Amino acid sequence: MIIPECRKCGYDLTGMPTSGKCPECGQDYDVKYRTGVRLPESPVEKSQRIYARARTIILAAIGVILLGVGCYAQFILDFEMAIYTVGFLGLMLLLGAGISYISESDD
Ligand SMILES: [Zn+2]
Repeated sequence: MIIPECRKCGYDLTGMPTSGKCPECGQDYDVKYRTGVRLPESPVEKSQRIYARARTIILAAIGVILLGVGCYAQFILDFEMAIYTVGFLGLMLLLGAGISYISESDD
């Protein structure tokens, strides 16, 4: 059961028409088109949000590790090209994490 609330003031719109004005603050709302209302997160939306956040964190973590390994191998162990291979891969993953982070709030 969905309990819509006014997005502006949080007024409980249960039992109100599916669209109209909030009786408390006058905010226009439409439950069907989800404008002006704050609907509780469904379990699917919640799991999608958690998945998106986990994806960002994992990409960033692996990116940092690979970048660290690349730098370490290049400058400490003196492996040639390590920074351009492993380090570059790490950088790409960090970039992916950035894109993942930006897209978290989408859809
Ligand atoms: Zn309101």
